[in-house]
Amino acid sequence: MSSTLVMKFGGTSVGTPEAMAQAVKNVQKSKEEGMDVVVVTSALSGITNLLTESTARAVQGDEEFIERTEVELIEKHLFLVDKLIKSSEEKAEIRKEIERLSQEFGRLCHAISILGEATPRALDAVLSLGERFSVRILAGALVSAGAEALFVETSQLIVTDDSFQEAHPDLEKTREKTQNIIKPLLEEGKIPVLTGYLAATEEEITTTLGRGGSDYSAAIIGAVLPADEVWIWTDVSGVMTADPRIVQQARTISELNYREMAELSYFGAKVLHPKAVRPVVELGIPVRICNTFKPEDKGTFIVKEEDDDLVKARARHVVKAVTAIPSQRLVTVEGRGMLGVPGVAARTFGAVAATGTSVPLITQASSEQSISFSVPSDSVDAVLSSLYEVFETEIARRDIDRVWATGDVAIITAVGNGLQHTPGVAGQIFSALGAANVNIYAIAQGSSKVAISLIVMANDAERAVHTLHHFITAN
Ligand code: ADP
Ligand code: ASP
Ligand code: MG
Repeated sequence: MSSTLVMKFGGTSVGTPEAMAQAVKNVQKSKEEGMDVVVVTSALSGITNLLTESTARAVQGDEEFIERTEVELIEKHLFLVDKLIKSSEEKAEIRKEIERLSQEFGRLCHAISILGEATPRALDAVLSLGERFSVRILAGALVSAGAEALFVETSQLIVTDDSFQEAHPDLEKTREKTQNIIKPLLEEGKIPVLTGYLAATEEEITTTLGRGGSDYSAAIIGAVLPADEVWIWTDVSGVMTADPRIVQQARTISELNYREMAELSYFGAKVLHPKAVRPVVELGIPVRICNTFKPEDKGTFIVKEEDDDLVKARARHVVKAVTAIPSQRLVTVEGRGMLGVPGVAARTFGAVAATGTSVPLITQASSEQSISFSVPSDSVDAVLSSLYEVFETEIARRDIDRVWATGDVAIITAVGNGLQHTPGVAGQIFSALGAANVNIYAIAQGSSKVAISLIVMANDAERAVHTLHHFITAN
């Protein structure tokens, strides 16, 4: 039996005719080597953002923008079709589909514009269009290059709940559908090309898995088939020691374990969606992150955790990577009256949750006199109002003295398995930052012990990243 490989291509890997032609070559190479290949694709780069903007414009009633975008969507996609699809019948067929999807876009946005409101369900109907366009073109491009490919929309495969915009998959139901539909195609030697990002409820209403969610789609499909490996093709040669857009000297990390990768993506390394690690972790399916444009580069392998002694012996690089999440505010609830009062933390986070805000980092002083946590800057007003409301009585009684937020801060995170085995490394990190004149406002050790996060002022963030990156590469 041949091995099964799930390959996911990100937006930049399919965003231009040249990129998509390269993606096609990468698929064909593995197919020629005898693998069964399942392809998952993102929308062309920029398209999901354009669709998001369109829904916002539709809410404002900007019909002109919608009409213009309808044309733009056709033009952008047809540009690739013209360059990549050889047969004129095939070209005409895909053109028709692109026009049909663009009209669907127009109708949906028109409805949003009439209502003056975009529900999460309506947003998913619009945002999922990007992948529905791209999947047809990529499958067509593979056929034109001589492969037996065909597209499948994952609304037929991935079953989720109805948490629109960030839906949760039901792996059992997804397994059944995926195996029934995809396995026979692989047995016939075909290459199924699937839409990333989108799924559907049991009632067949379209959902999405959250922005950047095509990685998650690939992991879900990889887990339920199951695949032997999942490859994430992107525009950099794997997971690097820092975001290469911030640190030019960043270099590829050849191997990371699942926990390190989970922390890295959770704390802002956009190269892999945070949820993409989980579905394959239990099954021990390796994930490779590699560069579409440099397929000969090995990239990064994300592997199962090894036993601790081995890890210790190999923990040459105590800290492997540094990440930053910008545009956060540190919110503090403080007061001497909080001392030992049960339920303050629960009520605090209840108040935050009521605003629909996620909290990436929490710290509590051991005296229990304050709780601090970070929230995205654009949610801070809503969070503060909600806290004032919940603690109205305690604030009036002065049990809680202050509920307040800092100016813009960033969360800087150092990740590495060696952190849990190497004494003194946290101290070295603080010294390095101190020497670089970076003030640290709060510290949290990741629950998995392979990460330390620090809050620094926004204008110190780049310096902190560079300093820690230097620390990583010098050690
Ligand atoms: P795709 O469209 O292929 O899903 P993304 O833009 O989502 O690609 O993710 C790839 C980008 O992630 C890279 O271009 C890079 O700028 C960014 N990135 C952030 N942190 C890291 C990191 N530690 N290693 C590699 N890339 C990173
Ligand atoms: N197209 C979606 C997005 O831009 C999903 C993805 O690319 O992973 O968020
Ligand atoms: Mg991505």
